[in-house]
Parts: sequence; C-alpha cells; structure tokens
Amino acid sequence: MHRLFSFNCNCPCYRARPRLRFQLQLVFLVLVSLVRISTIIFCMVIRHHITTKSLAVVVGISFFFLLLNSLLHYYHYREWWHYKPNFVRLEQKIILCNTTLSTKHKRDLPYPLLGNMRTSKHGDKLCTNKPCTNRELEHILVFHLDDHQPQPRWSELKRLNPSADTYIGFHRTSAHAAASVAHSYMHSSIKPPQMLGFGIYFARSIENTLGKARFKGAIMAAKIRMGNVKEVTLNELNIVRNTDERHPEFDTVYYNHKEDHRDQFCVYDEKQVLKWIIVVDQLHDDKFSDNEMDSEFDDTKCYCI
Ligand SMILES: [Zn+2]
Ligand SMILES: [Zn+2]
Repeated sequence: MHRLFSFNCNCPCYRARPRLRFQLQLVFLVLVSLVRISTIIFCMVIRHHITTKSLAVVVGISFFFLLLNSLLHYYHYREWWHYKPNFVRLEQKIILCNTTLSTKHKRDLPYPLLGNMRTSKHGDKLCTNKPCTNRELEHILVFHLDDHQPQPRWSELKRLNPSADTYIGFHRTSAHAAASVAHSYMHSSIKPPQMLGFGIYFARSIENTLGKARFKGAIMAAKIRMGNVKEVTLNELNIVRNTDERHPEFDTVYYNHKEDHRDQFCVYDEKQVLKWIIVVDQLHDDKFSDNEMDSEFDDTKCYCI
C-alpha cells in the first residue's frame, strides 16, 4: 500500500509516463516533508516531555530515508526520460567529431516507451483522441506510433491556418546514422538519385516510414520549419529531382503523392530542422538486457502494487 501512495507502484499507467510519475512523487515528497516538519515543531513546542522529544528525533532520522528514496526516484526518472541508448551491433564504428549532444536533440526515447509497446492494460493505453491534435513529438511516438493520424497535408494545413510555418516529419535511418546525428545535425542526401532533390527527407506519416514491418535501426520524429514551399505532383518531379537549384527561392519541396498518406517532403537546409527525438530499435540498443529496465514492470501483480 505504501508503494501505491508514494507513487512508487508498478501501475501500468506509469509505463508510458515517467515524467508524470516523477512529478507526482515530488508532490508527495513535499507533502510528507511538511507533515514531518510540523510534527517536529509540535514535539519541540511541548516542553519537558521526553517522549515527544525522542519522537522528534525519530522523525528527523526518517527524513534521511525520505531523501534516499527521492534520490532513487530521481535516478529512475533520469533513466527513462533522459535516456541514453547503449549502442551495439552498429553497421560502422561511430566516430563522433563532437561529444556533446546537439541542442536540437530533444531526447532519446527507450524503445519500450514506443506506441506499439502499450499493453492496453489499466492506463497503459494508446491515445484515443480522434483526431488527435497533440503535436508533441513524445506524445506521437509514445501514444500513437502506427496509428498516428498525420497532420493535414501541407496545402490543407496552410488553408486552415495561413500562418502555419512548422510541420512534423518522420525519418527512418540506421542506428549508426542516428547516433551521429544526435551529436551533430541532419545531413542532406546528395547522392543521386534523389527524387525531390538534394536535401533532408521526411515522411508525413510515420506509417509511411515504417512500412508494414517492425522498425529497424532508428526512427526520428522532427519539428521542421517549412519556409517557402514548392509543392509538386508526380509529373512535376523532374523539376526538382537531383538538384538543389530551387534553393533559396524555395526552402522545402513537398510532394503530393496520389495516396495522401504517402506524401514526402525534402528540406534544403539543415537549419530548418528545429528539433527531433530519436528511438533506437531493440537490436541496436542493449541497455535493457543490461540493467533489467526491461523487466521493471513484469512483477506487477494486481494492477498497481
Ligand atoms: Zn493506476
Ligand atoms: Zn494523441
């Protein structure tokens, strides 16, 4: 019971919400501290009474354990929400020119947080808003993934909201490339053939980057500044293919595919990529087999406790 009330339980509703859990734990910590402090003050106020004095000492000591407990909570929260993958089996050795992470690299998410890992048990469910307008990158990957309903097409979005300038895009890459991007920036594809020209490619829907298979390597969800957009259809592709001559007249080429969920776009300048989050697949990240994070929720018996 104590685990439940200190938000330390293994309730499935925390599986996907490490940050919420930590916030609740903090609130709980503050409340408990207040109760203990007032107990101590109360005991000290009643003078010349040895029992209350020793009670004050006991409560004081229990503060120490409370502190230890909070450090543990904090560690747990860091592990999940400020996750660092442990890369293995990379296609090439990573040679990083820079050891610090890019400021655009918002976070890595551990793959068990991905939408396809939601168990549908008690609180551990996918988002049920239809249509969902939450464009937080974490929300999309954790509570949607495959079922993600993409934003309206760029042209439609502009019609609904003429001041719109940012868009969400998805990018599949190798674990090796993702590891190096996290420390630098997203690189343009400049080796022909490049259907939409030389730039950085994104898909409008996550489903389109994944295909039907489970994802391999890494996926990135990114927020992109679109700038001036050149929209093209199938028979206009030859004006943009294998060139970046359209830049700087245009910043982005948006391809209206005849099946609209297969739209893609290509941005010419890496500066247009504002931020991203990365998820590395199970094969290339062995952090979970390493430190038992994977089995953390397996011992959950009756729902929470
Ligand atoms: Zn619960
Ligand atoms: Zn949603």
